[in-house]
Amino acid sequence: MTLLRLHEVTKEFVTRGQGGLLAPKAAFTAVDQVSFEVSLGETLAIVGESGSGKSTTARIAARLLDPTRGTVEFEGQDITRATGKSLARFRNDVQVVFQDPFSSLNPRYTVERIVTAPLSYQGIAPPGGRRAFARELMERVGLNPDHSQRYPSQFSGGQAQRIGIARALAVNPKLVICDEAVSALDVSIQAQVIRLLLRLQRESGFSYIFIAHDLAVVRQIAQRVAVMNKGRIVELGTRDQIFDQPRDEYTKTLLAAVP
Ligand code: ADP
Ligand code: MG
Repeated sequence: MTLLRLHEVTKEFVTRGQGGLLAPKAAFTAVDQVSFEVSLGETLAIVGESGSGKSTTARIAARLLDPTRGTVEFEGQDITRATGKSLARFRNDVQVVFQDPFSSLNPRYTVERIVTAPLSYQGIAPPGGRRAFARELMERVGLNPDHSQRYPSQFSGGQAQRIGIARALAVNPKLVICDEAVSALDVSIQAQVIRLLLRLQRESGFSYIFIAHDLAVVRQIAQRVAVMNKGRIVELGTRDQIFDQPRDEYTKTLLAAVP
């Protein structure tokens, strides 16, 4: 079943060239006619160099940013311009985990408050009470539940990323978008967080859009891979096809750079 569908999504940013206010405005195309689908339970990776448009695509897919053209569909509904209840439902079903856990976790909140916040915003009482629910979420992501009253700064980078993942899981999402979620972590910690992401998916059956510039990481987690270059998807295929029989010249160059 198709969960999410982007259809010919384009994002132009209007910028001014050198010369400050007097310079003419120019439109820069960050994402160029991008189309893909994500099925329920699968992991689609988006790979490409820095600046290729991955995060912009992710932000459009999560409706954190409006596309200039094109449509975003979720469970068969066009939600490109949705507002009100349907947008709220979508914002619940699609969660994002960002690269830098510390900048996406409120430093003045305890872990308990952070991971239960998505429910509080919706006015939903955490099942079993806030404390018990936070402890359960912490256990699910491999954090010590006795640390629920600590603050983000008291955790390591890998642990902080687990807090971000716990927060995403609090609302039972159907799709979790990981935008370079493990890129800033040490290799051994990366492997642990990837194992966690895989286990959570096995347990709950949601989908991932997994964005990374590191192909070795992508190989461990994705079923399908989209390769982006200069705002376009130049190739999209199964993991084995992309890694073993790349067709596009740019994909071949990317693969050649993997040690
Ligand atoms: P990636 O995540 O693949 O590194 P991004 O989606 O962040 O790429 O960026 C794609 C391009 O769009 C880059 O050239 C970036 O500088 C540009 N860009 C991203 N956001 C904005 C913005 N808000 N205004 C202007 N240009 C932007
Ligand atoms: Mg990015």
